Amino acid sequence: MEYVPVIGLEVHAQLLTRSKIFCGCSTEFGAPPNHHTCPICLGMPGVLPVLNRRVVELAVRTGLALGCEIRALSQWARTNYFYPDLPKGYQISQYELPLCEHGTLPIDLPGGAGEKRVRIKRIHMEEDAGKNIHQAGGAAAGTSLVDFNRAGVPLVEIVSEPDLGSPEEASAYLKGLRDVLVTLGVCNGNMEQGSFRCDANVSVMPAGATELGTRTELKNINSFRFVREALDFEIKRQIEVLRSGGKVVQETRLYDPDARRTQSMRSKEEAHDYRYFPEPDLQPLRLDAGWMEEIRTGLPELPRDRMLRFERQYGLPREDAQALTCDVDPAVGVLFDEVMRRYGDAKKLANWFRGELFRALKDGEARLDELKLTSEAFAALLGLVDSAAISLNAAKEVFATLLKEGGDPAKIVEARGLRQVSDTQEIERVIDEVIAQHPDEATRYRSGKKQLLGFFTGQVMKAMKGKGNPVLVNQTLQRKLGSS
Ligand SMILES: [Zn+2]
Repeated sequence: MEYVPVIGLEVHAQLLTRSKIFCGCSTEFGAPPNHHTCPICLGMPGVLPVLNRRVVELAVRTGLALGCEIRALSQWARTNYFYPDLPKGYQISQYELPLCEHGTLPIDLPGGAGEKRVRIKRIHMEEDAGKNIHQAGGAAAGTSLVDFNRAGVPLVEIVSEPDLGSPEEASAYLKGLRDVLVTLGVCNGNMEQGSFRCDANVSVMPAGATELGTRTELKNINSFRFVREALDFEIKRQIEVLRSGGKVVQETRLYDPDARRTQSMRSKEEAHDYRYFPEPDLQPLRLDAGWMEEIRTGLPELPRDRMLRFERQYGLPREDAQALTCDVDPAVGVLFDEVMRRYGDAKKLANWFRGELFRALKDGEARLDELKLTSEAFAALLGLVDSAAISLNAAKEVFATLLKEGGDPAKIVEARGLRQVSDTQEIERVIDEVIAQHPDEATRYRSGKKQLLGFFTGQVMKAMKGKGNPVLVNQTLQRKLGSS
């Protein structure tokens, strides 16, 4: 029997606020343990939470960008459970009336198989818990420490419907979602620092069946690679269990990236285990329609929309449009648009972005947010190449300078003597000299040894210190060597 996987993802994204969701403590990453704490986020008796308005704004922004319905009246709820990193004994979250519902995120199906609109079930706001640090070695081995810096940091939980049919689709959804959040400026998308985290619900069912199988929840899959690996392993494991006549147990499983397998962690809780009830310390949240409209008006162009526009408006192939808009700093696409206002050849410009610019960014030679290169200078440089005023190699040299120091490409070209010789008389004079100096090679060329053209080109370029216009040099050489 063939089995097909059914996957849904729950993403926790840390909202980019300066202070926590219910107190004034800083959300800065990397501070000494328990540095950013106060009686509120430590859950002392008698304290009351005060909602951070910016959290709501960023959550609404997220919901609107993902096409959700935003509830004008939503409600806070307590999720009750005991764990050392949760000092209050409950987490303030949203349960019955979440802020956003019924959204979608379009993704590209793997292998160019078209588009899929992944449904988003709900987005709600909640506070993060602290962090337990288990001591593995030293005198304190076997003990655990708790850091509450993260307790009360604002999150949105984004829950997809079980619409994803393979690990590759799950990975594409996760990448697409991160691109959107980063572009919106609501989350930095940093998986290593835990500000973008993912759990997956996965089950398998016989192909053609309509009833979902028993699902397991996978935790600790905090990289794009781990998501694919963990799902791959878990899907195969469930199919094996079913094929050997067993039953999949509903449980939470932990992914071990070293062993590349999932392991049972605990039996999965049911919702009633959490004893959800409306949060008595916070009023239901009422949103002003005008404020929501203001947030909607301020939404930027999303990466996928920009990619489709680049294909349409500039006639770029999908591969280029995607490289310039998805999984990169959104500022790349903005810069591309700016240069295109002054320059006509989108394909050539895309090659420069994907070649020289991306290489410099990757190698750390330049940072996009402190780039000295302006769109004017970029366009002017490409103009110099197109008019054959400079060679491609010279252009790359000027480009490197523009990245670090900025400036006017024409002036840099003059100052360094990089201007290419396109004077036909000058080129002819040098070629005549070179042919006269190498009569034997010229005779062999004329008697059919055409590969000697490379030798002559090299000699001419050397004589012209690399500044000869290569197209003109080549044409003139062939003409002169051909006629004897
Ligand atoms: Zn605090």
